[in-house]
Amino acid sequence: MSRLAFTLEKTAPGTRARVARFTTLHGEVRTPVFMPVGTQATVKNMTAERLLELDSQCLLANTYHLLLRPGPEVFKKFGGIHRFMNWDRPVLTDSGGFQIFSLPHSRTMREDGASFRSYVDGELHHLSPESSIAMQRAIGSDIMMVLDQCIPSTADHAITEAAMHLTHRWAERSLLARGDSPQALFGIVQGACHRDLRLRSAEYLRNLPFDGLAIGGLAVGETHAERYEFTGIATAELPENLPRYLMGVGTPIDILEAVHRGVDMFDCIIPSQLAQRGTAFSSHGKLHLRRAAYKFSEEPLDAACDCSTCRNYSRGYIHHLIKSDETLGWQLLAHHNIAFYHRLMREMRAAILDGTFAAYYERQRIALVRDDESNPPVHPAPARIRKAPTLGDYDIQPSRCGTFSSIRQLSSGEIMHSVSSPEEEANRLYIAQSRLAARLLRRTPDDTEPLVVWDVGLGAASNAMAALACAERELATHGAHDLRPLHLVSFECDLDPLTLAASHASHFPHLRHRAPHTLLREHRWTNPDGVIVWTLHHGDFLAHLESSPAPDLVFYDPFSAKTDTGLWTSEVFARLHHHAGPRPAELYTYSAATSVRVALLHAGWFVAEGVGTGPKASTTVAFTRIDKTTTPHPARLLGPEWIGRWSRSHSQFPATLPEADRPAFAKAIESHPQFSVA
Ligand SMILES: [Zn+2]
Repeated sequence: MSRLAFTLEKTAPGTRARVARFTTLHGEVRTPVFMPVGTQATVKNMTAERLLELDSQCLLANTYHLLLRPGPEVFKKFGGIHRFMNWDRPVLTDSGGFQIFSLPHSRTMREDGASFRSYVDGELHHLSPESSIAMQRAIGSDIMMVLDQCIPSTADHAITEAAMHLTHRWAERSLLARGDSPQALFGIVQGACHRDLRLRSAEYLRNLPFDGLAIGGLAVGETHAERYEFTGIATAELPENLPRYLMGVGTPIDILEAVHRGVDMFDCIIPSQLAQRGTAFSSHGKLHLRRAAYKFSEEPLDAACDCSTCRNYSRGYIHHLIKSDETLGWQLLAHHNIAFYHRLMREMRAAILDGTFAAYYERQRIALVRDDESNPPVHPAPARIRKAPTLGDYDIQPSRCGTFSSIRQLSSGEIMHSVSSPEEEANRLYIAQSRLAARLLRRTPDDTEPLVVWDVGLGAASNAMAALACAERELATHGAHDLRPLHLVSFECDLDPLTLAASHASHFPHLRHRAPHTLLREHRWTNPDGVIVWTLHHGDFLAHLESSPAPDLVFYDPFSAKTDTGLWTSEVFARLHHHAGPRPAELYTYSAATSVRVALLHAGWFVAEGVGTGPKASTTVAFTRIDKTTTPHPARLLGPEWIGRWSRSHSQFPATLPEADRPAFAKAIESHPQFSVA
């Protein structure tokens, strides 16, 4: 039945890791396998000969890019991609869906497919399940993917369910369109982070005649823990006798975790992209070759690596090439990084075959997250703190479950992110909910207007670093060419929390990055290609408000109204609203307090329920305007039922409001346009 003659060879005891092999039109693939990404029918900085030397088994090519340039006619002329790029081993093509759905402003979506404008020549294109398959048939790949509707992994249940059903209808159409082509075709399990939908999607697709199944819609906004959990949920439902492919994943640790959960195939742009930024994977952590620490080093990148880069070149020479922006530096690092990924896959395969994978997994899950161990970028902190270290009015508090640490203000007793880990809360509440990743993508090819994000209440930089990590991920996936610049503006009156956390980075993994340390020193940090700029206003937020560039997004995270009363008033929100001017701005905050919502409404904001996080059932999202020009937002505006609750609430009015002004205040709230639109 299957076009791949899939054979499951062995499953590792104590884990779900497995070894398999299958046969394509261009030869055999042994799994677990990593597929280097050849977006434009070329793996960046690698010739086909070098890929063969590293024993790359299968490459991935992007249908979207190849459709726009060189176009299907060229592939028809050459008889397919293999001859065109001089590669006679297997090729997998994606459907183009992921790229199109990453362009929310320049495409329209209908039942039959999506229309979008070419970034090459501005021409209008239509991509449907049928035309995607037609293009993949012209490319002549060994494995084709169905067109699916990609949504953020954090989308709510209703949106996810609708996208899943559409993806299923498109899956059936893709199978019909494939017809009698000998090319294999994979379905894609969707369902974001909703367990019931993932299960339904897997169950639906396993009953269709696909040659393999992929897990889509992960690595787009969820936390690592969620990614691992939902990978495991999906693989548990997938048939034993088909290959399983986790799309777009990931870092070495992500791949290890996914193999442990039964995934066979991976692709990711990270090894090539990091090479271009001067970073090498090694058996003792990631090396950042730009750093002066390597200037005089005669050592190879990794003594445990036998690739030709490591056999022939020193760290000192590569440091020089990278500093000089010489393309040979990128080539040497790309070669080594892909060798590193392939070796990881070979080691896992060998460990599964000889029954030692469980032990290998336990060793590697620690080893793979090390960062430049021989020349650590941050001074190592003692592994355990006996007495809570303090600075000024702050100390470090381990969480009750012991998995993360927080900063506590001694005078108020208030703890930043006391219940869920700071990274988790930042990603869920600010990064995913504001759809930061999608907003960073250019809406048109010449859209270079910076996205301005305000981070009010820098604290220990959890939110700012989550935004920065999101931008770095997008940069790694799409490249600087497809991104708008990010200007992150942090406001903080007291730098002690960040200074304290940064000097104990072992408790705050998000601070193991050069950026927060540079920001503390220079109040500004810029990434190497200048796409991400982070500035710091040290002092009173209200003193800097009007002199800062107007925001598109505001992450509003100062201490609570109890501790920091002055920052939660209607007057402050009105100044923010006014400063945003005519451009639509959105504000996200952890508070769901009636007093905060009513202050926002009174200041002219439209106010909606935000996602819950940790023990909080909900948070707050506010918009300066709601009209046809603003993108629809999944957050639900407060309605009449909220007005009802508000009018019975104790905190109906700001405490400082004189009795005489209350009727006028109440009238202003009740006549807010958000309640008059039915
Ligand atoms: Zn090497």
